[in-house]
Amino acid sequence: MALTKNMLIPLEIESLSSDGNGVGHAEGMAVFVPFSAPGDVLEARIVKVCKSHAFAIISRILTPSADRVEPACPAYGKCGGCCFRHISFEAECRAKQRFVEDALRRIGHLDLPVSPTLTTGRSDRYRNKVQYPLTREDGAVRTGFYAPRSHRVVPCSDCKLQPEHLNRIAGTVCDLLERFDIPLYDEETHRGLVRHLYLRDAASTGEVLVCLVINGPSLPHAEEFCRELTQADPRIRSIVLNHNTEKSNVILGGRCTVLSGDGFVHDSMCGVPVKLGALSFYQVNTEGAELLYHEAARLADIRPDETLLDLYCGAGTIGLSMAHACKRLIGVEIIPEAVESARENAAAMGVSHATFFCADAGTAAQKLAAEGLVPDVIVLDPPRKGCDANTLDAVVKMAPSRVVMVSCNPATAARDAAILSSQGYRAECAVPVNLFPRTKHTEAVILLRRE
Ligand code: SAH
Repeated sequence: MALTKNMLIPLEIESLSSDGNGVGHAEGMAVFVPFSAPGDVLEARIVKVCKSHAFAIISRILTPSADRVEPACPAYGKCGGCCFRHISFEAECRAKQRFVEDALRRIGHLDLPVSPTLTTGRSDRYRNKVQYPLTREDGAVRTGFYAPRSHRVVPCSDCKLQPEHLNRIAGTVCDLLERFDIPLYDEETHRGLVRHLYLRDAASTGEVLVCLVINGPSLPHAEEFCRELTQADPRIRSIVLNHNTEKSNVILGGRCTVLSGDGFVHDSMCGVPVKLGALSFYQVNTEGAELLYHEAARLADIRPDETLLDLYCGAGTIGLSMAHACKRLIGVEIIPEAVESARENAAAMGVSHATFFCADAGTAAQKLAAEGLVPDVIVLDPPRKGCDANTLDAVVKMAPSRVVMVSCNPATAARDAAILSSQGYRAECAVPVNLFPRTKHTEAVILLRRE
C-alpha cells in the first residue's frame, strides 16, 4: 500500500539522520520523523511523500526509545536550534560519530577509522555568541529564534545554549528598545530598524560585545541606550551598530560603527590571546574549540623545523595555537578585520615568525605554490561549503606531507578528502568533536598523509 499524506502508520525508528531526524522504513521507503529516537515505536502521521522517501510527525509514542530524556526547554520542538534535546547526550555523541562515518563512506567512498566523538562534557550554555531575531509577544519586545526552515520567530527568553548572563543582557536590550520605542525590522515590508541582537561573550576576561544589527544609519536615543545598558551589566565592554540595509536574510552587513567602548572584546583560546570585533569569525564554543585545536595539533604533529600553512585562518587561532612548535606560520583569511586580529594576536604572543595574508584561500595558495612554498603541514578550515577546486589544486601542488582538515560540515569534508585522496593522499583517521551539543551540527578533524 503506497504511503499518502495524513496516513497513520506504525513505525520503528532505526537511526538518526545527519539533518537531525529519526529514520524508519515503511512500504519500502525511508521515513524521516523529527524529534524521534532510535528504538522508538511510533504511530506516525505522514506529512509529505517524495519519490524515494517520506516525512512524518509523531502522532503517538507507543514504546519510547531507551535513549529518551526530558527535553527541559519550553521552546524545544518549536525553535529550529536544537534537535537532540529528547535524547541523552551520550546517544547524541554516538549519532554524531556515525554522521561522520557515513559521510566519509557514502560521499567520500573512504574507509578510515573514525574515533568516538570528543566532547568537553558540557552540553548546555556553551555558546559564546548569539544572534537573536526580535519579535513582539503580546506587545512586548522579545528575543527568540527562528522556527525550523522558516523565519517565524519563536520567543525564547532563556535559551539553554547561551550563558545565562547573555540571555539577561538580551532581556535588558528588549526592555530598552521598548522603552525608547525603537521600531523592530519587518522582513516582509523591509521597514523598521532593529533586525537582530548579536552578543559575543569572551569567557576568559568576562567581556561582552553587544551589537545591534540595524536597517539604517543610526539608533535613536543611542547615548541613553548605551548608558543604561552598560549600567545594567558591567561586563559590557563594547556596544556597536552593524549596518545591514539589504533585503536579504544574511544577518550581518559589512560595516560597523562603535557606540561605546572600542568595538572589541578580548578572549583567549589555547593560550592565544584573541581580540575580537563583531565581524570576525570565532569558534562559538570556546572550550569545545580548545579540544578541537588540541586534536588538530596532535594530528598535525608539527616539528620545530617545519612550516605550517593555515588556510581559512579567521583570527589566526588554530595556527597560532601551534606557533610555538613550528619554524614558520602562514595564515590566509578573506575578512580584513579577522586578518588584523590575527596579526595583533600574533604580536601579543610575541610570535614574529607568522605572516597573515588577507586573500581568497585558493588565490593565495596558488600564488604561494607558484612561489615555491613547500609547507610541511596545511590546515584547511573552510566554511560549510568546503574548499573550492582552486584551493585543493594548490594544496596538491605544494605537496605537504600532512593535511589536517577541520570542518563543520562532514559532507563537504568527505568530498574534499576524497579529492585529496585521488591526488596522492591517504585519509588516515577522523575525529568527530561535539562543538555544537543538542544541535544537528558536527565538527570533525581529518588527517590526510601524503603517500
Ligand atoms: N580557522 C578559523 C576560522 C574557521 S571558519 C578558526 O578556527 O577560528 C572559516 C573562515 O574562512 C572564516 O574566518 C571565513 O571568513 C573564512 N573564509 C571564507 N571564505 C574564504 C575564502 N574564500 N578564502 C579565505 N578565507 C575564507
